[in-house]
Amino acid sequence: MSESVTVWITGDQCSMNNTALLAAAESQRKPRVLMIESIKRGGKIKYHKKKLILIYSVMRHFAEELRNAGWQVDYYKEHPDFESAVQDHLEKNKPTEVIFMEQSEFGANEKLKRLLPDRKVTITRHCNFISTAKEFEDLHKTKDSRVTMERFYRLMRKKTNLLMDGDNPTGGDWNFDKENRQPPGKDFKFEALRTFPPDEITQAVIKMVDENFSDHPGDSGDWIYAVTRADALKAAKDFFDKRLDEFGPHQDSMLHGEPFLNHSVLSPYVNTCLLHPLELCKEAERRYIGNAARLASVEGFIRQLIGWREFVWRVYWRLMPEYKQRNHLKDAQLKLPEFFTTGDTKMRCMRDSIETVIKHGYAHHIVRLMLLGNFAMIAGYDPQETDLWFEEMFVDGYDWVMVPNVIGMALHADGGYIGTKPYAASANYINKMSDFCKKCEYNQKESTGDNACPFNTLYWHFLLRNEETFSQNHRMALIMKGLAGKPESWKKEIADRAKYLRDPGSKI
Ligand SMILES: Cc1cc2nc3c(=O)[nH]c(=O)nc-3n(C[C@H](O)[C@H](O)[C@H](O)COP(=O)(O)OP(=O)(O)OC[C@H]3O[C@@H](n4cnc5c(N)ncnc54)[C@H](O)[C@@H]3O)c2cc1C
Repeated sequence: MSESVTVWITGDQCSMNNTALLAAAESQRKPRVLMIESIKRGGKIKYHKKKLILIYSVMRHFAEELRNAGWQVDYYKEHPDFESAVQDHLEKNKPTEVIFMEQSEFGANEKLKRLLPDRKVTITRHCNFISTAKEFEDLHKTKDSRVTMERFYRLMRKKTNLLMDGDNPTGGDWNFDKENRQPPGKDFKFEALRTFPPDEITQAVIKMVDENFSDHPGDSGDWIYAVTRADALKAAKDFFDKRLDEFGPHQDSMLHGEPFLNHSVLSPYVNTCLLHPLELCKEAERRYIGNAARLASVEGFIRQLIGWREFVWRVYWRLMPEYKQRNHLKDAQLKLPEFFTTGDTKMRCMRDSIETVIKHGYAHHIVRLMLLGNFAMIAGYDPQETDLWFEEMFVDGYDWVMVPNVIGMALHADGGYIGTKPYAASANYINKMSDFCKKCEYNQKESTGDNACPFNTLYWHFLLRNEETFSQNHRMALIMKGLAGKPESWKKEIADRAKYLRDPGSKI
């Protein structure tokens, strides 16, 4: 009997550079590709409808692309579960070996292997990350020590030779964020995002998702995302041509009704492997060399991809599964309020952001961090429930990227592995960096009383709740000193109002 091999490709691995595909092509043993749309997997948690549409449509388009390239594809459309599809495939094709690329979710390699008993299984390395576990581990002095993103990022810059002049960083600095972080003043320019109307395949997927996942959150209409590599490349070109140069200066700005600004909106494609982070970074570097984009923007963009993205991937694999369960701060057990699913709140910034997430499954980084995440942290919502909400609601959400970003960066529930200081902010920051506060029903200057912006009351209450922990953090010394000087009567007013705001039954 001639030897045959199956390449199993899951939904977030749709690349011709998938290393399992490459390994099978090399082996020349009649490779056949297995792809399964599992309805059970899609319903594992309440994924946003647009996330499901993205994954299933990317899969269907990729299967077509594979067939056109001469691959035999065994595709299980709208199938109840992985188990029965795998069994059927094995019985029909009798592969002697199954190869798949390492899964992005902790524990998933083992789950897939369990479905393939008495079969040779080979797992290949992930194609969309550039670092190795050893490179990350070697930066740690001891098993329990921590490494900053900045240190890791410099190593990745040297490894990739991106923006390097010999051993030195281009422009004399590794990081140009001091030129970025500008508020949205009069000079703020941004161009509309290029969108991709649904073709026949995507329309069929939308119908399928509406039927099978009708109780999932999110709108399925107004489709804007690319679902093929060819279109994802067009989306990237659009970003490089029109938004990269302006990306840096106003990266942290927020505007009502404008979710995308100069952000790339490429994470849905990088995380499904339609685009590779290095090809994006190299193109950004080319734009800098060709004087089409400023250094602060290009460096900032490259840092997000080979710095932050790569760093959170390594943190996830180093610290899971325990990391996901962390809850370091005091009194962070509250249930997420209703308005996180409806957007029905008087806070203009939260209403706008949540409504956008419901519509597109997207919000840019500062909205995720300084509005949604910040609010969840200062209110004291349960980190695991908050993580689940994020994981469900975003088109680019996967366990490996949500857990470090939510538990670590946004909620500081990891006790300071990702960042030594919590990203906690009051309305002062929101007012400086956005146009939300001007027309808000709440008063962004007040901290106590019914009209006070909840961000203010909860910010102070958060510091009071965690006074003991934060007093020992030298990066918070100034803030904590300010808090210590506040009168007891004020602290009581904060506590009374916070009690109301933190009550799940209150309408805020
Ligand atoms: C609470 C919270 C939740 C997040 N959840 C996700 C998520 O589920 N999936 C996800 O890909 N990113 C997540 N991020 C990181 C970041 O916010 C998104 O990658 C980014 O907003 C995606 O939009 P964009 O493509 O327009 O990014 P841009 O601002 O244009 O950045 C370029 C690229 O850099 C990468 N990137 C930037 N920051 C990060 C980061 N902190 N971690 C990982 N990659 C990064 C992304 O691939 C992104 O496409 C989260 C951040 C926070 C604070």
